[in-house]
Amino acid sequence: MQTSERINFPHCRLNPLTREWVLVSPHRAGRPWLGQVEDTPAEDLPPYDPTCTLCPGNERVGGTRNPGYNGTFVFENDFAALLPNPGAKRPAPSPSPLFLTQPTPGLCRVICFSPRHDLSLPELSPAAVEAVVQTWTEQTRDLGGRDFVNYVQVFENKGAIMGASNPHPHSQVWATACLPNEPAKESASQSDYLREHERCLLCDYMSEEIKRGERIVAANDYFNALVPFWAVWPFEILLIARRHAASLLDLNPDEAAALADILRRVTARYDNLFEISFPYSMGFHQSPTDGRPHPEWHLHAHFYPPLLRAAHDVYGDRIINRETVRHLAQSYHPYEALWANYLRTNHWLQRHEQRHQYRDSAKLNDKLLGG
Ligand SMILES: [Zn+2]
Ligand SMILES: [Zn+2]
Ligand SMILES: [Zn+2]
Repeated sequence: MQTSERINFPHCRLNPLTREWVLVSPHRAGRPWLGQVEDTPAEDLPPYDPTCTLCPGNERVGGTRNPGYNGTFVFENDFAALLPNPGAKRPAPSPSPLFLTQPTPGLCRVICFSPRHDLSLPELSPAAVEAVVQTWTEQTRDLGGRDFVNYVQVFENKGAIMGASNPHPHSQVWATACLPNEPAKESASQSDYLREHERCLLCDYMSEEIKRGERIVAANDYFNALVPFWAVWPFEILLIARRHAASLLDLNPDEAAALADILRRVTARYDNLFEISFPYSMGFHQSPTDGRPHPEWHLHAHFYPPLLRAAHDVYGDRIINRETVRHLAQSYHPYEALWANYLRTNHWLQRHEQRHQYRDSAKLNDKLLGG
């Protein structure tokens, strides 16, 4: 029997436990993967790599040749997780409510930050990062303006551990008919808050954080980068527009330049932490492009470093050194307390600290048993 589980084009599946739809892109198994075989540390990449499918003038899988571009470069993802018209091939309906699927039209584009294979956001010039912000905005306008597109996600997965398939600095933009899970939850929360308080959730939250001052990591005239009160990940950052802007489309030229500035500051801080090109997953959350007013929505971005996952595997001996960590944390004046505290909440560091303090296992046992 042909079951709905055997589908070789993008579709969504319902997780009946969480009631969330999960995107499945089976055809992507054939995409090129440079991430895991990339032995060269990101700090030692060449400016141009003849084998890179994103470098100017090189051939991509499928035979398309990249132009000799000078600034940002946008193209439709050759192995898109979404396709504009998967509905032509509709999954066979399942008789069971536990195996629900639905087609999900969408578009995926890749945005190379610059022709340089070796320069990530903090290493690019302010003007080059402003061009990246401008490209994200243009893509939001272009894709969000299409009838079937109700949401535009701009995101960057940096580093093989975060799933980047190519070390050439790039981001992605996904345009979908459905509202993805995280923005959908945030949409509901922001709507509820606006209804109950007649104010914007993130405007209120940000002004409280500015009063407290202790979690703000970087700021300029138009943006704040802070470690959210509810952070789960060490070095998690929430980047918030200071003015109540709903999306990238609402930013004026000064704010767009300020966004480029704060992105460079946040990513430079990440790189400086362990003196490596720091991997992270970053995504903008902005108002839906469904043609309805969204007074509840406040533009922001999330940065999630992979530290809880496998810090030792990623950073090896470069981080397993308490003195180095303390030194690095203290270099963040005036935020040293924040960063030092943040490091202390890190699970593996706590264990490391205990190893140093209680080399004698008897003492360690006493400690663990509440001594
Ligand atoms: Zn490249
Ligand atoms: Zn707001
Ligand atoms: Zn968000």
